[in-house]
Amino acid sequence: MRTIADLVRSRLRDVPDFPTPGVVFKDYTPLLADGPALGEVVRDIATRYAGAVDVVVGIEARGFILAAAVAYELGIGMVPIRKAGKLPGETLSTSYSLEYGTAEIEVHTDAFVPGQRVLVLDDVLATGGTAAAACELVERAGALIAGVDVILELTFLEGRSRLPGRAVHAMLTL
Ligand code: AMP
Repeated sequence: MRTIADLVRSRLRDVPDFPTPGVVFKDYTPLLADGPALGEVVRDIATRYAGAVDVVVGIEARGFILAAAVAYELGIGMVPIRKAGKLPGETLSTSYSLEYGTAEIEVHTDAFVPGQRVLVLDDVLATGGTAAAACELVERAGALIAGVDVILELTFLEGRSRLPGRAVHAMLTL
């Protein structure tokens, strides 16, 4: 029987040495381009959280695509977490370390109603720094993390260790 993990595996493309030498980029545009596969993945995520979340957060930029589709499927709203300087309103921001250098992401101060339950979505969980920073922003903005869901988890980078106590789910682990 074909599983959702099999489907995801068959629709990811490896791009070696992107964006820097030595990195194998896991490109999910083939999954996005396949309507039935995209629908299956979106419904799989939505089913897991139906009734348990109030808002879906998407992390710039590939997380936006999934988050909007899942939010639509669940009939709830979507909040973007963006790279610094992109959101027009008043923001909360946080910096975190990357392999080389740092990154900064932001969310609108008034993005959530206090106590709302939030699902955080991204395409890939790698070192976990981005997801951990996103969760921190959501909580500083007054909402609760109900779960973190990704299409692919690169387990050798131990991203879950940066998300202690969080409910983390990946459709495919490598
Ligand atoms: P992280 O190291 O978990 O903070 O990942 C940083 C961001 O880069 C996340 O939004 C991931 O989606 C993305 N990312 C990291 N490594 C990869 C990879 N090998 N392929 C595709 N996206 C990646």
